[in-house]
Amino acid sequence: MLVDSHCHLDFPDFTETLDDVVSRAHRAGVGHMLTICTHVTRFERVLAVARRFDSVHCTVGIHPHEAGKEPETSAETLMRLAEDPKVVGFGETGLDFFYEHSPRDAQERSFRQHIRAAREAALPVVVHTRDAEAETLRILDEEHAVGAFPGLIHCFSSGPDVAERAVDLGLLISVSGIVTFRKAEALRETIRAVPLESLLVETDAPYLAPVPRRGKRNEPAYTAHTAAVVAEVKGVTPAELAEATTANFFRLFRKATPSVAMGVMAAE
Ligand SMILES: [Zn+2]
Ligand SMILES: [Zn+2]
Repeated sequence: MLVDSHCHLDFPDFTETLDDVVSRAHRAGVGHMLTICTHVTRFERVLAVARRFDSVHCTVGIHPHEAGKEPETSAETLMRLAEDPKVVGFGETGLDFFYEHSPRDAQERSFRQHIRAAREAALPVVVHTRDAEAETLRILDEEHAVGAFPGLIHCFSSGPDVAERAVDLGLLISVSGIVTFRKAEALRETIRAVPLESLLVETDAPYLAPVPRRGKRNEPAYTAHTAAVVAEVKGVTPAELAEATTANFFRLFRKATPSVAMGVMAAE
């Protein structure tokens, strides 16, 4: 049984077929999904998706793209919204200097509020970083010095130095379909060196469909393709990889509980 630790089931790409999307995931061995909030103004929609399915939990947060457009949101507000039993973490947050859809200072302020919420609520923060590795590490280091917090770097695509530093800070590394791309040899090398107990797998659906679905709309069922490649890279069987990443997920997201569907799958 696998967990898709990062997908966006509230996106319009899915509205008509959500029941089908979730059952296809279950049939593909993906027993649990974490749907990630990108706009705090759309949080209710994300929460509604999580409430609809036993096997889906959600986060609350503001994507770095939206940091300058969404209302500035304090750690206290994030923590209050995370009191719902379906909300198990914060984000996605972080820094994206590739697109820079929001000013850098707004991204940083928002990132720090999410980290503070993670520290105080002891719930994980989901970190997005693109073309901003040095700044992301600086903020993670500074905030870690204030006090430890649980979290992960999602859709990991940085170098070995970032992976190593993140693991040192107690953060997990979540691997997306990028690892299946033919040209991603450097990423596969980086992932090979990450301890199994620090790894998660995700789709980031509807984006970034793994090979052999590349170019199509992504969905949680395709986590299996990514997991197969990660297993090969780590030199373990797909079953061992699934067992480890699923255990890592529920250890990190302590509020998430395996659904009944998952119990049935585990027993099969
Ligand atoms: Zn992201
Ligand atoms: Zn995302």
